[in-house]
Amino acid sequence: MIKRVCVYCASSDYSDQVYLNAAYRLGEILAEKSITIVYGGGSAGLMGMLANGALSKGGKVVGIIPQFMYELEWGHEGLTELQIVNNMHERKELMMMNTDAAIALPGGSGTLEELFETITLKRLGVYLNPIILVNIKNFFDPCIQLLENAVIEKFMDERNKLMWKVVDDPSNVLEAIIASPVWTEESRHFATLKKDK
Ligand code: AMP
Repeated sequence: MIKRVCVYCASSDYSDQVYLNAAYRLGEILAEKSITIVYGGGSAGLMGMLANGALSKGGKVVGIIPQFMYELEWGHEGLTELQIVNNMHERKELMMMNTDAAIALPGGSGTLEELFETITLKRLGVYLNPIILVNIKNFFDPCIQLLENAVIEKFMDERNKLMWKVVDDPSNVLEAIIASPVWTEESRHFATLKKDK
């Protein structure tokens, strides 16, 4: 049963409308399935659209925002819950905690950093749940190519390619979560490619 997911996405208001619409639609879809969304708590860009989509369908949305962003009035005031934390590290840890999956929509360095930390923690067997990339307008293609190149160049094990799933539309996110292979702490045994000594 999927109860709670965290979503990483852009804070930009200026991206193509197709990205903003996808964020709103993902919010609606998750709310329709009574899945709680945990996200960065912002009101701008894809973040705000995600939250508003979910809230429009009566969904639960938990925002986790650092104090300095809250003071800059970047927080969304209409959420089910807005948790104010000390810093970005605390926020990232709390966002991921107790979630059944992590979902990344397109975004800038903030989104990419959150996505890559989650992938790294999964590789190390610390985060074990599905990671879904919503590849709107093929935004993530270069990112996926880079990850695959890291495997080709033997910086990562071939099995690490099972850590993430890519979908091209928010409507495919839930089935991708369900179809994600089970991942266990055993994965840390192939987290580094070491020569036998
Ligand atoms: P970016 O993709 O670079 O826009 O960064 C988005 C991510 O960084 C979000 O998931 C947030 O955790 C954080 N973030 C960056 N800018 C903001 C903002 N204006 N309000 C709230 N969170 C933000």
